[in-house]
Amino acid sequence: LAGMAKYTESVCKLCRREGEKLFLKGERCYSPKCSFDKRSYAPGQHGRSGGRGGRGGAVGRESDYAKQLRAKQKARRVYGVYERQFRRYYGKALKSRGITGLMLLQILESRLDNVVYRLGYASSRSHARLLVTHGHFLVNGRRTDIPSMTLKAGDLVAVREGSNKTKYFQELTPLAESRNIPAWLGRDLNTLSGSVLRLPDRSEIEGSLNEQLIVEYYSR
Ligand code: SF4
Repeated sequence: LAGMAKYTESVCKLCRREGEKLFLKGERCYSPKCSFDKRSYAPGQHGRSGGRGGRGGAVGRESDYAKQLRAKQKARRVYGVYERQFRRYYGKALKSRGITGLMLLQILESRLDNVVYRLGYASSRSHARLLVTHGHFLVNGRRTDIPSMTLKAGDLVAVREGSNKTKYFQELTPLAESRNIPAWLGRDLNTLSGSVLRLPDRSEIEGSLNEQLIVEYYSR
């Protein structure tokens, strides 16, 4: 399976394919320019059959396999994770003592890029990834440029001294303020920082993700 998450084509296509907004384009997603809101249809009746990972030829109702695959691909797209890493996360979730599906989602949510996005310091996860890669954030006081870094309860994320003087972060506060943050995170807009208070509950993670199907996909 080709696991490369190359967004060479408009990512909006992914939303149309999934039949729902995945919020991949930052501010645009919240504006009337969102192309899903403009015209909501799947690109091509059998959008996936010609694409990577598609099984093709599945006529009529979706097979169980197709459903499982789609659930997995969707979660991958939402969090912007490559197949290999996603599979690694699954392995980690499987080995943990918790419920595998929930653990998997919690691992995804614990990624630094996701936390930066959830804190309202970036307009999308891919934007968050870029900001992290550019070294704008500290984790527990240390500079890091690894968006996939897994955070745990008690970890502190902050915009780096120097970065907080840039136009982007200077203008960010009112925008960030308008975004609600989930209860598992704490935020201090004065210092442009935030912390992980605990792992998210299932209800605090996108309800449209189907972790059960993802588990089925990997346990075939
Ligand atoms: Fe999806 Fe955002 Fe594009 Fe709308 S603007 S279709 S939510 S990526």
